[in-house]
Amino acid sequence: MNIGVILNRVFRINNNPLFEYINQQKDAFDKCYLIIPKETFEEKGTDKKANYYYGTLEKFLHKLKEHHIEPYVIDYSELGMFCTEHDIKEIVMAGDIMSYHQERYDIRHLKQAFKNHDIPVITINVNHYFKPSNTMNQQGQPYKVFTSFYKAHRSKLRQHSSYQYHLSDIANKCSQSQQTITNDYHHDGQSEDQALNNWKDYLNHSIQNYKKDREYLPEVLTSQLSIVLAYGLIDIKQIITDLLEGYEENENNYESFIREVMFREFYYVLMAQYPHIAHEAFNEKYRTIQWSYNKEEFNRWCEGKTGFPIIDAAMNELNETGFMHNRMRMVVSQFLTKDLFIDWAWGEDYFRKKLIDYDAASNVHGWQWSASTGTDAVPYFRMFNPTRQSERFDKDALYIKKYIPIFDNVPAKFLHHPFQHQTQLVKKGIQLGKDYPEPIVDHKVAREHVMTIFKNI
Ligand SMILES: Cc1cc2nc3c(=O)[nH]c(=O)nc-3n(C[C@H](O)[C@H](O)[C@H](O)COP(=O)(O)OP(=O)(O)OC[C@H]3O[C@@H](n4cnc5c(N)ncnc54)[C@H](O)[C@@H]3O)c2cc1C
Repeated sequence: MNIGVILNRVFRINNNPLFEYINQQKDAFDKCYLIIPKETFEEKGTDKKANYYYGTLEKFLHKLKEHHIEPYVIDYSELGMFCTEHDIKEIVMAGDIMSYHQERYDIRHLKQAFKNHDIPVITINVNHYFKPSNTMNQQGQPYKVFTSFYKAHRSKLRQHSSYQYHLSDIANKCSQSQQTITNDYHHDGQSEDQALNNWKDYLNHSIQNYKKDREYLPEVLTSQLSIVLAYGLIDIKQIITDLLEGYEENENNYESFIREVMFREFYYVLMAQYPHIAHEAFNEKYRTIQWSYNKEEFNRWCEGKTGFPIIDAAMNELNETGFMHNRMRMVVSQFLTKDLFIDWAWGEDYFRKKLIDYDAASNVHGWQWSASTGTDAVPYFRMFNPTRQSERFDKDALYIKKYIPIFDNVPAKFLHHPFQHQTQLVKKGIQLGKDYPEPIVDHKVAREHVMTIFKNI
């Protein structure tokens, strides 16, 4: 019997449970076909993300080749046919990938595609620490409040030993595709070695200041593990092991970090259990909200032209780098869903196209948190004021100036709400409405609108 092992977004040679599976089962099958279904990025504006993906994939293929492993890189639509042609009778794959670019690449769609070809699928937990079925509350339901989930499962984190296999055994058991690997994306993406080095560096030098640094905007001082995890470059069990090993050095900061990683697990369990919330409000009573679908305002938000420098700087960060700080993800998503009252699903989709660390579970829940439609979401009456957020988190306007260079010579105090300082801006050569947009919305008026709508539901 031949089997197919799918390595979608599990771009690592170390601590890869799929390789361990092949090693453990090697006597039970004749030949193994390693398959990487290649994602496509058709929509306009996805180039940065596409390049990152292809670059990371290319680096992974080169690394595998060093170990004489040559997977088959094929289109998602060819999976069924490929199995028929190669007499593959069973598929093994990660059941918990959430970082796919298109929903049609998710586990439910893949399982259905193989079912249509009568091929059984074995799924393995590869990208998350917990199996959803092991995290239910006493009523057999997923925890819907993060602190309860955290209290119930934090103590279950433990140190793990490495997965057991030799790459030479995998090479011997797998068919070689002999496909040519290009070097077209040499400057894009990240290799597993880079990811591991950065992670070690982060543990050695930065995690000790996590609580303070995570809100610092002008530079990214957080781990950027979200990118690493989105491509499966480091095993989550290895990350947890490293965190527990170093824990006693600085419990406070390590615990804060672990808490965030647990958020990712929490959102994953909810998403696995309630996949429909990718498209509708988690909280049923908010499903009837009449959101705005104003395209012009939406485009101004996307392009960083709202007239609120802190929002525009963050959108420029996203558009230029494919990344955005967590604080700013919260601020811009609240701005879109509250100040502009635009459907969170539009924002969620824009992030999907742009974020190189896109993860459906974290993104959908992040957006529903901001829109107050999610589980354990921000209460609607705690609506962020963009000007206050700017004063608080970018006091010296260093982040604003980094992403909106036209403000380079303007004192920070005029940049949190430029509309109130037009005379001073003109003296600096900036005219609102000409050199920089006037504000798209009056926050006070928007706030009243939001309060009225939510109160009346
Ligand atoms: C509207 C919105 C959309 C988001 N979209 C995504 C997304 O598409 N992909 C994504 O990975 N994260 C998303 N997040 C969560 C969070 O912003 C990112 O995980 C974080 O900014 C990544 O940077 P980091 O790895 O340097 O984080 P660090 O601060 O170094 O945190 C370490 C790890 O903890 C996890 N984590 C941290 N904060 C969160 C959080 N709020 N929710 C879930 N997990 C968290 C991530 O895996 C992260 O890599 C979103 C948040 C919001 C508010």
